Amino acid sequence: MDKMKNIIKWIVILLVVIAAGIAGFLFGKNKAASRFEAEKKQYQDINISELDIFKNVEGPIYVTGHSNPDTDTIGSSIAYAALLKKLGFDAKAVIIDDLNDEIEYVMSTGGIEVPEKLDDVAGKNIVLVDHSEYSQSVEGLEDANIIAIIDHHGVGSIVTGNPLVYDARPVCATATLIWNRYHNYGVEIDKDTAYVMACAILSDTGNFYSDSTTSLDKEAMNELSRIAGIEDTDSLYTEMYKASISYKGLNDEEIFFSDYKEYECGDKKYGIGCVNVYDEDGAKDMVERMAKVLPDADKSTGMDLLMAQISIFHDGISITYLVPADEDTADIIKRAFGDTATYDGTSYRLEPGISRKKNLVPAITDILESDQ
Ligand code: MN
Ligand code: MN
Repeated sequence: MDKMKNIIKWIVILLVVIAAGIAGFLFGKNKAASRFEAEKKQYQDINISELDIFKNVEGPIYVTGHSNPDTDTIGSSIAYAALLKKLGFDAKAVIIDDLNDEIEYVMSTGGIEVPEKLDDVAGKNIVLVDHSEYSQSVEGLEDANIIAIIDHHGVGSIVTGNPLVYDARPVCATATLIWNRYHNYGVEIDKDTAYVMACAILSDTGNFYSDSTTSLDKEAMNELSRIAGIEDTDSLYTEMYKASISYKGLNDEEIFFSDYKEYECGDKKYGIGCVNVYDEDGAKDMVERMAKVLPDADKSTGMDLLMAQISIFHDGISITYLVPADEDTADIIKRAFGDTATYDGTSYRLEPGISRKKNLVPAITDILESDQ
């Protein structure tokens, strides 16, 4: 009997402890939730009060991204102009440069109208997205009225006299900050706008492989792809990436020179043309094509050393092929990467791949310096 009482006593104690635990959990959760609500309200208040300065602006507001536009710059311009429009402002997205193949793909699959091109913004009201650097921006910016900058890079060279909305935070895409602002203003996002914003985030995060990806980018992407009705974000990214490396309308020589840079070390001059491909088959094909154009390019550029750098770089895959134009260049590559690269008679293959700026140029510089 005593044993029975004891068991009942322990069961009662256990139930009390569980009940207390649940109560504590719920209370804590409630507290956290209400703190979250309070913080959210604060942000909303701050963002809404920003609009007061926009109300004093006379004439239309132009929203522009940087030159050599990427999908984030265009997507963010379109999304922010759409948001301002919904809030009752006379706002318009503009482009300052031609679109690349990736954005062309996004605009055509999304059925989105390409913004008007603007060559000079002197005297106009401007919102800058995705940059804060004069050298990356449009003509006449020094004489424009910059009313806001929304960006995810370091602070650039742009100086303003008047106070402005400056929202720069370390997320992986400006489109994530625009998404955040839709929330803070309590404005619904259109399906088309959500599509272009989702593509912007996919592009800047490299399908979330980038180390700079944050939880906010992921949260934004989840909601945007739901609104836009994107079922498979991986295949959308693949199609975008393939479009970006399609080199549409270029011959092999133009492909070699599409991302070509020259360097100097002592009395030696050398040039490297970077080309991106999707897979090993594409790389092998491109190696053959570059090997054919390199001898002529070698003559026309007058470089001492010349090579093509062909890379597969997406979804965690990282491989580089180096194609030398002549014996001298082959020798330098062999001395720089002979230990890690495999050579097939035409090209050197490196896995993981290398960056021109961070690895290839320093390695060549080291060798050329040691020869002097
Ligand atoms: Mn950008
Ligand atoms: Mn960006």
